[in-house]
Amino acid sequence: METIFSKIIEGSIPCNKVFENERILAFYDIEPAAPVHVLIIPKKPIPSMNEVAPEDLPLIGEMHSVAQQIAKDLGIAETGYRLINNCGPDSGQAVSHLHYHLVGGAKLGALVGGSSSHA
Ligand code: AMP
Repeated sequence: METIFSKIIEGSIPCNKVFENERILAFYDIEPAAPVHVLIIPKKPIPSMNEVAPEDLPLIGEMHSVAQQIAKDLGIAETGYRLINNCGPDSGQAVSHLHYHLVGGAKLGALVGGSSSHA
């Protein structure tokens, strides 16, 4: 299925690229929710986390390595960040192409976890 992200991968829609190799592309989110907001996507058109197959696990691992490297490169590795995957309607997933949001560069409000959500 064609999505905005598959068009970005094929180059018919531009993006502000942060990282690319044969398997993975990372670019700045067009509507940043934090001072640093990068999307990390596989070039393989996996619709969501629900469709990740066992053979995709090395790719998922590599996406985490890429996130780690981008966090270092953009100077938020030590201050902290979130790596978020939205999956399905209740999460608000808008684009049916697997992606991680890497967000940081400011104190992030607690959603789940974090010191402020515990008594
Ligand atoms: P999600 O709600 O998890 O599916 O997130 C989709 C994200 O894609 C949103 O944060 C959008 O701002 C972002 N987005 C949509 N179109 C573009 C685009 N052309 N370039 C960069 N980011 C985009």
